[in-house]
Order: sequence, then C-alpha cells, then structure tokens
Amino acid sequence: MCKRLVFIQVIFILFLAGCVTLQPKESIPTCKINGVTYYSLIPLCEAKGINWQYDTFTRVVVLRKGTDRINLKVGDDLILVNQRAVLLSRPIEIYEGAVVVPAKFKEQIIDVLFRKEPVLPQKISSFVISKKIRKIVVDAGHGGNDPGAIGRTGLREKDVNLDIAKRLALLLKSEGVNVVMTRSTDRFIPLGARVGITNKSGADIFVSIHSNANRTRSMNGFEVYYVASSLNDAKRALVTAKEGNLNLEGSLFASRSLELRAMLWDMIYAYDRAESIQLAKNICRSVGSNMNVKIIGVKDARYEVLRGSRIPAVLVEVGFVSNYNEERMLKNGFYRQKIAESIMDGISDYAQELAMVEADRR
Ligand SMILES: [Zn+2]
Repeated sequence: MCKRLVFIQVIFILFLAGCVTLQPKESIPTCKINGVTYYSLIPLCEAKGINWQYDTFTRVVVLRKGTDRINLKVGDDLILVNQRAVLLSRPIEIYEGAVVVPAKFKEQIIDVLFRKEPVLPQKISSFVISKKIRKIVVDAGHGGNDPGAIGRTGLREKDVNLDIAKRLALLLKSEGVNVVMTRSTDRFIPLGARVGITNKSGADIFVSIHSNANRTRSMNGFEVYYVASSLNDAKRALVTAKEGNLNLEGSLFASRSLELRAMLWDMIYAYDRAESIQLAKNICRSVGSNMNVKIIGVKDARYEVLRGSRIPAVLVEVGFVSNYNEERMLKNGFYRQKIAESIMDGISDYAQELAMVEADRR
C-alpha cells in the first residue's frame, strides 16, 4: 500500500472520529475545550451499552440503561441523574457536530452508574434492598357521600376500595415500607386534596385502588392505568415550574430560570410515566399469575390523581362491581385479601427490578 493512501486513511479516520484521540485505551474520541478534556458522547454510550436518544430540536439527550436514566441538555451544566439534579463543572457541548461531555462526567457519573451487567440480588425483602421504594401512597377511591360504582346487589365501590387499600397498606408495612393513606375511613376526600397529600408526602410511588363498572354487565377483569401519553407534558411542566416548589435540590433550582425548571419538570414527567408503565405491568403480571381473573391489561387515562402526581402513579381497577360474578367475588374478604397480596407482589417485583441495579452498584 502506498504511503499516500495510508496518509489519506489516517486523515479519514481522524475526520470520522471528530476530534483527536487522547486515550487510545478506551478508544472513545476526546477533545479539548478551553483546556478541559471532553468525551464524544455517542461512542461513549456505545462502548458502555447505554441506550441514547438525542432530540436535535430541543437538544436534550436521554441516556438509559436498566432502570437508570440521565437527562442532559446541550449548553447546560445542570443535569438529571435518576431525577436528581447534579451540577457539572462544565456544560455539555457540541464539538465538530458531535455532542461531547466533560471527562469528569464520564468518570464520576457514567462509569459509576452504568457498570457492566446487573447482578441479581439475594432473595431478601425487595423493598429493603431497593432503597428507591421507601414510602408509598395508597389511595382508596371515592368515600363518604361519593359511593363510586354500585353493584346489582348493592355492593358499593368505596367500601371495596377502602378494604383492599387497608389490606395492601398492612402488607406493605409488614415489609418495612412507610405507607401514607389518603383516607383510612369512609369519608369524602376531593381529588385535588388526594393529589396534594401525594405531592407533600415525599413518597416514591402512588397506588390508587378502584373498582370498575360498565353498562355491559358481561364486562369483567382487572386493569391498571397510568397517566395518558397524549397529555401535554410541556404545558403541565410549565404550570408546575411556575409554582416554584421544585422539591429536588432546593436552593440549586431556586436560582434557575423558569424555562430550565419547566424543562426539568418535563423530563421528570416523562421519566415518571415510563416508571408508572413498568409498575402497572408488574401489577398486572402478578395478579394474572396469582389469581384466576381475566387481565384486561395496562392502559392510559387522564384521571386527575394520575395527572397531578409528581411521582410514578398507577390506578388499579380491581374488578367490575357491575358484573354478577365479580361483584360476588369482591364481597368475599378472602378474595379481597388475595387481590391485595397480588398487588403487593407486583409492587415488590417492581422494587426488585430497581434493586437489581442497586445491588450492582455496591
Ligand atoms: Zn372509581
């Protein structure tokens, strides 16, 4: 091969790499910006098996591996690591058309968070291992002068919901989880107040218990809802940001612009929806394998308690009081206990998934 051809190949490789390689060991292209070493983000993600999405319009990058997420924005030094705000020493930049990140970000965040393969934890209480699920809001739908749906033989939804919610709360407490109930007696709590309790609780997830009804009396089965994907998250985020009480890193956010806080809330809402779907799937899977009940599945809806929650939130419809057979079953305390246990197992499986990543980090 002639020398000239080799020379052209070298130039071509350098051109592809975008910037000069300083550390051949990891073969991830780096460059210097104002004396600081930066890594090219996409090759870095590919080397680490990290899933990445880049929105060229908003210049927001989302990195995902397992249950971990990092949100970054080109030009900003403030990033979100699993919903927690972290301030970098230098901002994310674009260098020769490629997104680049400061070397410290790679060493202190990427290398620590996204290690090789997750290790399955020992079978201990998943809630104890998963430090991410310490507190849960359990919401019994309806109550007081709002009976909810009423069955053909008079079974009231509010009573079924409260009984299952109380059983679920007991089971969670026995696993060492803190539980906040929006109501523990037969009283009316407006939807806005339920949202308020949830957002002030400092809980990790929200689980609402309801029973279904339909004019078609043959309708039966179990389903779980998460907040509708069609909801305008950007608008919702702006409203939340305007309220100003961003409960993340307090003072760090107070000084930030409304636009940036709204953007962060937008990311949090997207993250929460993804987590809610995982939680909903786990609950459906658990009920489907523990009970002889038809699983309608996971659906999205615009229910106020889901829209307003600033944490991952699901609404469980345990069965149809309008269906003769399910109304009869829901009257039975053993059946309600079995439902509570199955929901509990689903939440536990979800916590276990989070724990798999936690275990790897030790
Ligand atoms: Zn209801």
